[in-house]
Amino acid sequence: MSAVLVINSGSSSFKYQLIDMDTETELATGLVERIGEATGHARHAAAGSARVEQTLPIPDHTAGFAVMLAAFAVNGPRLTDANLVAVGHRVVQGGSIFQGPTVIDDEVLAQISDLSDLAPLHNPAHVQGIIAARESFPEVPHVAVFDTSFHQTLAPAAYTYAINTALAAEHSIRRYGFHGSSHKFVSEAAAAFLDRPLAELKTIVLHLGNGASVCAVDGGRSIDTSMGLTPLQGLVMGTRSGDIDPAVLFHLHRKAGMSIDELDTLLNKQSGMLGLTGNGDMRDVEDAAVAGDEVAQAALDVYYHRIRGYVGNYIAQLGGLDVIVFTAGVGENSGIVRAGALAGLEFLGIELDPARNDPFAREARVISTDASKVTVVVIPTNEELEIARQTLATINGSVSPT
Ligand code: ADP
Repeated sequence: MSAVLVINSGSSSFKYQLIDMDTETELATGLVERIGEATGHARHAAAGSARVEQTLPIPDHTAGFAVMLAAFAVNGPRLTDANLVAVGHRVVQGGSIFQGPTVIDDEVLAQISDLSDLAPLHNPAHVQGIIAARESFPEVPHVAVFDTSFHQTLAPAAYTYAINTALAAEHSIRRYGFHGSSHKFVSEAAAAFLDRPLAELKTIVLHLGNGASVCAVDGGRSIDTSMGLTPLQGLVMGTRSGDIDPAVLFHLHRKAGMSIDELDTLLNKQSGMLGLTGNGDMRDVEDAAVAGDEVAQAALDVYYHRIRGYVGNYIAQLGGLDVIVFTAGVGENSGIVRAGALAGLEFLGIELDPARNDPFAREARVISTDASKVTVVVIPTNEELEIARQTLATINGSVSPT
């Protein structure tokens, strides 16, 4: 057996998952949260065992990793038995530097830290997590897997914003795109599930979670994606506006006296479904719309309209379309949203089968009719497994270093 530990570190929490790479199954998952607060909280579940919870002060990430190690020692599985071969770290922003997963040394860590200006909420937190994890597991390699690197295949025409080129270059302003591990995982899984060669498929992935993004995948390569310099651009999300005329910001600044920080909070934390309905959770919005709430229905209509626009855009960028993939919390679970988002696209050969789309199911499945020219599938995402796979491939030398 060989196992990879995947770490997703935030500023006051981190999630972990231990994965057996021979069978690609989960051995344990856990969460350490409220780091730095008066009382912290930790949760650990070994596969097949009950979840264990603890409440205790966790002053910093290093203390958090000690809590995690103790949880493994007490509740299993024992890390020595699992043959831990590497630790894989999710890193949100890899800029234009990191084209793929990269073994972390002091220089790489400094580069991830230097990219903090582009991802101030994420990269500093990843750095904290990586430092603590390297202290806890000094004997195995640590690998950074970037949300952005799958989109490094975008052509300049797709990633360039039409602003002054010198200014853009000086401040590293371009489209980067995010959710790369998910877009890569589900586009490959869809091809395998349909038993069709990835290299020949034109695919649109709709990753619809709290954060949401679309990706146009041509033969396994990302050629366009809806998120931009930051995850704010693109689709309507739980609390983010997605696409908006930038002049709205000037207008609100001048007319409503809102500061840059207030505008940042408005668009990232108080907009999207939350801004439109007062509730950012798609389940609640959907339930309200089904019960006849017109505000909720109007918000869903905005959400669908935006998705349809991207589907049309990406069919044009791809020069055709074979597969649409729905994934993430909303995409995997909501037949209502899937049907709403693709309604009216039958003329493009996109035809859902209600008998396949409506019932709830956990596994990968086709939801289009047999006659539909485009095959529509639901594929559960697994970003942790993707990070673990890339981590293992990197230490085995089967992906080229950046
Ligand atoms: P994150 O971006 O936080 O990883 P997820 O992919 O877990 O998000 O998706 C969370 C979203 O999925 C929430 O808005 C939640 O309401 C929505 N969701 C989960 N189950 C359903 C469901 N059955 N119907 C509609 N939305 C759902």
